[in-house]
Amino acid sequence: MATETVYAELTAALKRVHALGTLVELLGWDEQVNLPEGAAEQRAGQQAALAEALHAAASDAKIGGWLATLEADATLSDDQRAVVKNARRDYDHATRLPAEFVRDKAAQSSRGYHAWARARAADDFAGYAPVLRKNLEFAKREAGYLGWGGREYDYMIDQHDPGMTAAVIERLFGELKAGLVPLVREIAAARVKPRTDALRGFSPEGQRVFLREVTERLGFDYQRGRIDVSLHPFCSGTGSDVRMTTRFKEQEPLDSLFSAIHETGHGLYEQGLVAEHLGTALGVHAGMAVHESQSRLWENQVARSRGFWQCFEPRLRELFPAQTAAVSTDELYLAINAVEPTLIRVDADEVTYNLHIILRFELEKKLFTGELAVDGLPAAWRTAAQALLGLTPANDRVGVLQDVHWSGGSFGYFPSYCLGNMLAAQLWYRALALRPALEDDFARGDFRWLLNWLRENVHAQGRRFDALALARRVTGEELSPRHLLRYLRERYGALYLR
Ligand code: ZN
Repeated sequence: MATETVYAELTAALKRVHALGTLVELLGWDEQVNLPEGAAEQRAGQQAALAEALHAAASDAKIGGWLATLEADATLSDDQRAVVKNARRDYDHATRLPAEFVRDKAAQSSRGYHAWARARAADDFAGYAPVLRKNLEFAKREAGYLGWGGREYDYMIDQHDPGMTAAVIERLFGELKAGLVPLVREIAAARVKPRTDALRGFSPEGQRVFLREVTERLGFDYQRGRIDVSLHPFCSGTGSDVRMTTRFKEQEPLDSLFSAIHETGHGLYEQGLVAEHLGTALGVHAGMAVHESQSRLWENQVARSRGFWQCFEPRLRELFPAQTAAVSTDELYLAINAVEPTLIRVDADEVTYNLHIILRFELEKKLFTGELAVDGLPAAWRTAAQALLGLTPANDRVGVLQDVHWSGGSFGYFPSYCLGNMLAAQLWYRALALRPALEDDFARGDFRWLLNWLRENVHAQGRRFDALALARRVTGEELSPRHLLRYLRERYGALYLR
């Protein structure tokens, strides 16, 4: 068969696999948004049947044959090579793990979740420790099956961010920490204090209207996506069917708004992938760090800017006249940019958030190298929280037991959040260099220039470039925490350190 024919066969198969994958996601979305309580069992059966079909399609030996042919072909274009490389990665993942291992791991992950939930409720780390030990063992075995023996933590990181390594992250986070810890101390000691309790009694109906107007103005296409309500906000789906969720809290209207804007950033990325390439490396996202860079850029650099609020503050006051009457423009802006160290990652502001991630990365890395045993985690967590955040957790519920990730074996995931913050700031300054009047656009409610620039330089690139290569290509320099530090100093220094 000629190269073009083999390549066409391969991409058609990849698109079928991808279509099945989007069905898994759709069922997952439905489970969190619509599913009647009594249907959980039936849904588990549907998910299992679909997972089996997906695995069969992804591990089809014909894909292996096409890949071998194409890998030996020196005439492939760069794009074709990117597609083949990514397909090889997925194919190996689908075929090199023994079926028994996959089954055991899935069962362990489900048991792990319940054990974690129980342990957290009872503040019982000892009851959770065996699960963590087992999850670490599974992670190491999996890395071994895929040829990453001796580099197990790098394997876990690579699952979320292709091409990233613990050594690179260690260097970037070290630099970030050196600049961030003093900044957080200065802000905590500042006399300026935000009135975070000033906004109360925002009806869900009014909030719904406001966030729909905001997200639509940012560029989310509601002909090709929707927003619903779920317990925890998320974004799933891709291309022309993107499903976002948010939640409404009457006493914390900024929570639902910024959650929705964050998910909008994810959604804009998925809507910006090139339709004809969906399912191949040319039409899927580039990894979690890049994904988070998109959500964070819209949530933080854009939606916490003065320009953005020049545009939207009048409408907020029009929808909620009584609730905003006693709050001045400056007080509103300060509440939007409130900074206060907290023990809980998911409640953290954008300045201290990165310290929570650095803490988790440092502990995870030591778990994999063996420098830290599972039993030593609670104490190591307390020491790190004090050193980084200036706070010591009174118990493990607000310490090592707070996050769900490790219970399901998701190691190496946390760093993506912080890498995403770094990339977002770096992209932001590049965009500003190209268009210095960006915030004037925002003040007029015009976000098209920024979205088009991201569409062209990030979204439409699919997975051609990993996070490091993308940073280099779009901004002309290596990924660096310098830009994030500069951004945080500029924005929060102006508010708190006057
Ligand atoms: Zn996110």
